[in-house]
Amino acid sequence: MTHEIAAVIFGGVGFTTAKDCHSRMIHTPYGNVTAYFTRMNGDDVAIIPRHAGAEEHTPPHMINYRANVRAVHELGAKCIISTNSVGTMRDHSIGSFVLLDDFMDLTKNRISTFFDTETVHVDMVEPYCPRIKKCLANSLGNGGFTYSEGTYVCTEGPRFETRAEIAMMKQFGDVVGMTGVPEVILARELELCYASICTVTNYACGLGNGKLTVDEVVSILNGAQDMLFEVVSDAISNLPDERDCDCGNATQGARV
Ligand SMILES: [Zn+2]
Repeated sequence: MTHEIAAVIFGGVGFTTAKDCHSRMIHTPYGNVTAYFTRMNGDDVAIIPRHAGAEEHTPPHMINYRANVRAVHELGAKCIISTNSVGTMRDHSIGSFVLLDDFMDLTKNRISTFFDTETVHVDMVEPYCPRIKKCLANSLGNGGFTYSEGTYVCTEGPRFETRAEIAMMKQFGDVVGMTGVPEVILARELELCYASICTVTNYACGLGNGKLTVDEVVSILNGAQDMLFEVVSDAISNLPDERDCDCGNATQGARV
């Protein structure tokens, strides 16, 4: 029995369980990954909660990004919809959504490639799949949700950023988070379609009122979870079967 998986959702904080799902361990050369399988609007979907370790909450700098992305490949799926929580460095309203169109990698200690034994320079002119992004944008628009597009700055974490760091980063980015990189890169290396929908949970350090706390982030995220689920499931049901994007050729002309 094989059902084609329409999309794999990478769940951020708070996006860990769907109703009526069953879990299965996926074996990859980089480690095992627990995926949850469910149906959304008639489509088979898998959810990989990136923070879920064997027993506890895996912090962003310890997530096994290579195993998670490789698990999608092992499932034979071609599409990843990533959900991330972010701090805003602009004037996004709290609880609104941002679709990513570019990123800046300020991580420090993460393995961000599958290519360890050959030199492959993957093009990054359009790191986020335009086909999935368009579906997400349509679903957000049809649902009456506030959203914008922007550049994501990924930091190493787990600490929040300093005021000086945010003052620098806001010159080239719109939102800041800790989980979007390297999975966007790894997905591209495996020629998977990858797009990210971010929930704005807070103002970045120095731009809001006082100290930034996890409770604040989690409470906004919990409030947005149903909306996020609705948008993502609607987008998946409207994903065209044909991959008319270029993601499937990402490594063409990239090898030395
Ligand atoms: Zn694509």
